[in-house]
Amino acid sequence: MERANAVIVGGGVVGCAVAAELALRTSDVFLVEQLPRLGMAASSRNSGVLHSGIYYPPGSLKARHCVEGNRLTYEFSAAHDVPHKKTGKLITATTAEEEAELARLIERGRENGVEGLAVIGAEELRRREPKVAARAALWVPSAGLVESELLVKAYAALAAAHGVYLATSARLERVEPATDFIRLRAGRVGELETRVLVNAAGLFADEVAALFGYRRYRIYPVRGEYWEVVVAKRGWVNALVYPTPDPSGLSLGVHLTKTLAGRLLLGPNARHVEDKDDYEQDWEPRESFCARAQKLLPELRPDDLRPAYSGIRAKLKPPGQAGIEDFVVTRDPLYPHVIQLIGIDSPGLTAASSLARYVAQLVAETLA
Ligand SMILES: Cc1cc2nc3c(=O)[nH]c(=O)nc-3n(C[C@H](O)[C@H](O)[C@H](O)COP(=O)(O)OP(=O)(O)OC[C@H]3O[C@@H](n4cnc5c(N)ncnc54)[C@H](O)[C@@H]3O)c2cc1C
Repeated sequence: MERANAVIVGGGVVGCAVAAELALRTSDVFLVEQLPRLGMAASSRNSGVLHSGIYYPPGSLKARHCVEGNRLTYEFSAAHDVPHKKTGKLITATTAEEEAELARLIERGRENGVEGLAVIGAEELRRREPKVAARAALWVPSAGLVESELLVKAYAALAAAHGVYLATSARLERVEPATDFIRLRAGRVGELETRVLVNAAGLFADEVAALFGYRRYRIYPVRGEYWEVVVAKRGWVNALVYPTPDPSGLSLGVHLTKTLAGRLLLGPNARHVEDKDDYEQDWEPRESFCARAQKLLPELRPDDLRPAYSGIRAKLKPPGQAGIEDFVVTRDPLYPHVIQLIGIDSPGLTAASSLARYVAQLVAETLA
């Protein structure tokens, strides 16, 4: 039987970033991904925004890894030719209450170590984004864009170059954990024995954790749908424009993204779905989606929209519960050589590089 030092379950941005980080420190690392290609789930079905870290409670894993991940991901992308751009972003306020919320965001952002935050008035906003309606906006200079699918590929390529075996169509099906190792079966990889296992299974991380008897967390899938604005109106927005965040904590609200390729995307909305791979059924009707986007871009009309794609968030909060839930990154309580990453929703793309360093440290401590 093959023996590994570490097996990573899940070939999204988190699993691949962990693989790239471990590859530099450890031999005999395997990554197993159930789908035929890497990065096909949340990691390539998102907004591609490198968040700054202003939204999350100080001291949380989201705050820490988002701020650090933002810096690391720009560095990594520049070094590995991953298309990216520090565009900055505007968070708009349309009412006095939303303006007060912007002030709270600045305070929180500064506590989290986010630099350069400033409020701009309606006139300056009109100069930067003439079609956007708001009375003020928060300027967040460290936010930007990255081509998420290419980022996943770059982490995977680095891992593979340093000897990690990346197996696709290899679903972790069964585990037999023992004190010093874990025996497992993963699709066409077959049987394997490993000293450490990292659960980076995204939407399915709760189910992978349950294989070890760890059932504390449950993931509730929340779909986000995107629409694209017709070519003739792409020029209506120059960069990244967000509303003040949705108080439910389910999402940051439908925002406007001028992608690196020049498309104008609207989205994502936030809707609970039953099925973790239901990307297509019962999309929100064009008119009601357009109404959400009109809050930022009043001249937009339903006919200006074309359906684009959707992604599914791995939320830890059940429907109806408000607030932001933190990432869970922990050693399994029964099997400390199993590292569980659960509830890695937004800003997981931004945070992946920093989470990977943290996880690699935990793995190194286990193998020492
Ligand atoms: C609509 C939307 C918009 C978002 N926007 C942003 C954004 O702008 N900025 C940002 O920072 N973050 C954003 N996010 C969050 C970000 O995309 C995710 O946090 C991140 O991609 C999570 O990466 P992951 O590797 O944990 O999960 P995934 O990409 O879902 O990867 C997990 C992988 O595990 C595999 N897997 C599952 N079970 C098994 C098994 N048993 N065996 C083998 N493989 C398995 C899956 O097939 C999958 O490929 C957004 C997310 C969504 C859905």
